[in-house]
Amino acid sequence: MADAQRDQLAPVAVSDSPLVKFREFLEIRGEKLTEPRRVLVRHIFNSHKHFDADELVRDLHDAGHQVSRSTVYRTLRLLVEAGLLRELRLTNRNAFEHDYGYPAHDHLHCTACNRVVEFRNEEILRLRDAISLEHGFRPTGHRFLIDGVCAACSRAHTPRRRLDLI
Ligand SMILES: [Zn+2]
Ligand SMILES: [Zn+2]
Repeated sequence: MADAQRDQLAPVAVSDSPLVKFREFLEIRGEKLTEPRRVLVRHIFNSHKHFDADELVRDLHDAGHQVSRSTVYRTLRLLVEAGLLRELRLTNRNAFEHDYGYPAHDHLHCTACNRVVEFRNEEILRLRDAISLEHGFRPTGHRFLIDGVCAACSRAHTPRRRLDLI
């Protein structure tokens, strides 16, 4: 993703590293932070992006890590349960992204090039709280996803000849 930098928000400071958080979560469940899981968490939290499980498997192999597909899938589930990752249902795939150490935000998804753009909007939060209050709900989160075509794709698909005719 070439525009990755501009599409994302700045991380927020957290006291514990994702590895420490994950170890605590696993200990409560009576599980261990195995070496493949450690490799996975380090790799995932190295950079913020929206990735799916298959992409992560490919990435790990390219980086020379030997982590089985089933370990990747199972660990992703655990990381979501632990509150470290958040699942994002896009039109054509299920993506994951950092939740721990990253501000709450919403997304725009380009259905032409699959680019995902993050944004924060106070108006949406106000609306969410007002609707929740109306229904006696205590909101703990929300998902707001705009599907459409990004500016670059729109430009690419606008025939130039039309301008020539004017
Ligand atoms: Zn696009
Ligand atoms: Zn995001």
